[in-house]
Amino acid sequence: MAGKPTSGAARKAPAGLEAFERLGIRSEIDLLLHLPLRYEDLTRIVDIAEARAGESAQVEGVVRSSVIDVRPRRMLKVEIADGSGVLSLRFLHFNPAQARQFSPGMRVRAHGEVRSTLFGPEIVHPRYRLVTDSTPVPRQLTPVYPSVAGIGQGLIRAAVAKRLGRLDLPETVPPEPIARLALPRLDQALKLLHAPAPGVSMAAFDDRSLPEWRRVIFDELLAQQLSLRRARRSRAALKATPLGDGAWVGRLLSALPFALTRAQQGAFAEIARDLVGEQPMNRLLQGDVGSGKTVVAALAACQAIGSGAQVAMMAPTEILAGQHFAKLAPWLEPIGVRVGWLAGSMRESEKKAVRAAVLAGEVDLLVGTHALIEDSVQFMRLGLSIVDEQHRFGVAQRLSLRSRSDLLAHQLMMSATPIPRTLAMSYYADLDVSVIDELPPGRTPVLTKLVADTRRDEIVERVRQSVAEGRQVYWVCPLIEESEALDLQTAIDTHAALAAELDPIPVGLVHGRLAGADKQAVMRAFSAGDLKVLVATTVIEVGVDVPNASLMVIEHAERFGLAQLHQLRGRVGRGAARSVCVLLYRRPLSPAARERLRAMHETTDGFEIARRDLLQRGPGEFLGARQSGQSLLRFADLERDVELVEAARDTAAAMEGICPDLVVAHVSRWLGDREDFLKA
Ligand code: ADP
Ligand code: MG
Repeated sequence: MAGKPTSGAARKAPAGLEAFERLGIRSEIDLLLHLPLRYEDLTRIVDIAEARAGESAQVEGVVRSSVIDVRPRRMLKVEIADGSGVLSLRFLHFNPAQARQFSPGMRVRAHGEVRSTLFGPEIVHPRYRLVTDSTPVPRQLTPVYPSVAGIGQGLIRAAVAKRLGRLDLPETVPPEPIARLALPRLDQALKLLHAPAPGVSMAAFDDRSLPEWRRVIFDELLAQQLSLRRARRSRAALKATPLGDGAWVGRLLSALPFALTRAQQGAFAEIARDLVGEQPMNRLLQGDVGSGKTVVAALAACQAIGSGAQVAMMAPTEILAGQHFAKLAPWLEPIGVRVGWLAGSMRESEKKAVRAAVLAGEVDLLVGTHALIEDSVQFMRLGLSIVDEQHRFGVAQRLSLRSRSDLLAHQLMMSATPIPRTLAMSYYADLDVSVIDELPPGRTPVLTKLVADTRRDEIVERVRQSVAEGRQVYWVCPLIEESEALDLQTAIDTHAALAAELDPIPVGLVHGRLAGADKQAVMRAFSAGDLKVLVATTVIEVGVDVPNASLMVIEHAERFGLAQLHQLRGRVGRGAARSVCVLLYRRPLSPAARERLRAMHETTDGFEIARRDLLQRGPGEFLGARQSGQSLLRFADLERDVELVEAARDTAAAMEGICPDLVVAHVSRWLGDREDFLKA
């Protein structure tokens, strides 16, 4: 920690387990796996005269003077000399005790970036300690650990050093794969990572190509693979009700106003086959925005209902769930399906009535939001649960919906976000995937234009034109994450401004704070064409379906994530008319924002977008890891470590047969109580 003598922190009484727990450290192995962020080289002391400006250096000298300046602001300035020259240490934050330490004659060892000034070299906010002329220099690089307030580096270093001193870490991986990958033993790897000898390439640490790093990453991935295999086996032992009656499926197919695409047929055939089985289905239906997943889900629901089961369908937002309801009811009710609706915004008495009907078996398909799991909904005979946009739900939520009855329900998840290959091999190894890889006929790809917001007037003119041609328009305002209130205000202001500019064109407004019924009313008016322009926050992000809308304007597009922009853009291009998506951006653009906008301009392919998104942001988004609050892989990077993912997968398969006790030891070392989360 800057400005604090590290030796002092180490001498303090242990801050207790509680402090370490805040770092997620509960056991010896947790501590050993608390690996440094970076290292400082304190093994060398250079002469002050040789310390080069702009570089990090460690110097040692005797205090000549120590003064507190007040201009231009209060700071402590300590001059030290080592015979070759004089250097100033400058502290902007310091306490009186610290200032008193530096009495003339004291010996100080200081480390930091050297700057050259008119008055000679100086280090601002050095890390330092008081030493004697016989204090040894460390022989290893000094680790800098991830930490939180109240836990000094010294405390962590001391705890780790103590454990490393008497390290007894039995190997939990058979020697063969370790030898093939040319990796060191785990105990040796950890020793080196905590205390590397000087001269090791820092680049190999940073890109984690060092064999010691790769060993840790491999072990982590192996634990994940073993755990996934275990989850798959325990699922195979579970029973679900076979749902094999296809009569209602036929009814829906003949009632639909269109024929299924080849890809939809293929995906449904796979789902239908799963439903017939005694094992609970665990399948992801993946298809780009607009590819027609809903009808496939409806067919699955028909097969379940025709076989005597109830079906739950859950979507992440009320608007999306409402759209599903609005789409499914007219398809399903005429063929005899009783469709129910449950959402958080309903009155308690209404909810109660729906819950009673569900429990009595009087509802065949229940559509809704989180309310489906948050409230105590009991089904009479739940046979299938369908989760739309599954990556937007937390892992725990998904688990909860699945375990709603004694027999496990079959589960179908839907997502427009493709799973990158490495994720498919790791987190989703336990999941069967069906892909809809073609759009329904008669669509024209959306044209994406990047326009600086200085040309907003032209875009408003364009909106007017579109409406004159009988088309409808979405105008999306960004979500301002820091402030929901500000966010709302922006949408309200934008709506007022556009309504005035476009007068007399009817302009609607929908945002997250509207009550459910009001939201539905606005959406209905837009669907019916009574509203021509819809100003919206990202509540329209998923699932909204108005084919006549052919222009979308996204304000401050630079603030959106790539997946989000892709989802939004998917709201247009649903009819036969040529659709346009205008990304209004404001300069200056960060390099990441520039990349995102470029990607949007260059491709409409959901897979390519997902790939670029993963490169930019890492896999967390795909996993719902944010919601679950668990970061499941700490060291591995699924893009970078593909080779290790594959090796871990093969090793996991081999280990189960030959060394089941190592499997147990390895999984408990790495996952402890976190294992449940991997089963989702
Ligand atoms: P998504 O996969 O994004 O959820 P939807 O299920 O909402 O897509 O389908 C998008 C639109 O395409 C809907 O209006 C739906 O009725 C329509 N659609 C789905 N399948 C077909 C098809 N085979 N032919 C024509 N239109 C279809
Ligand atoms: Mg959808």
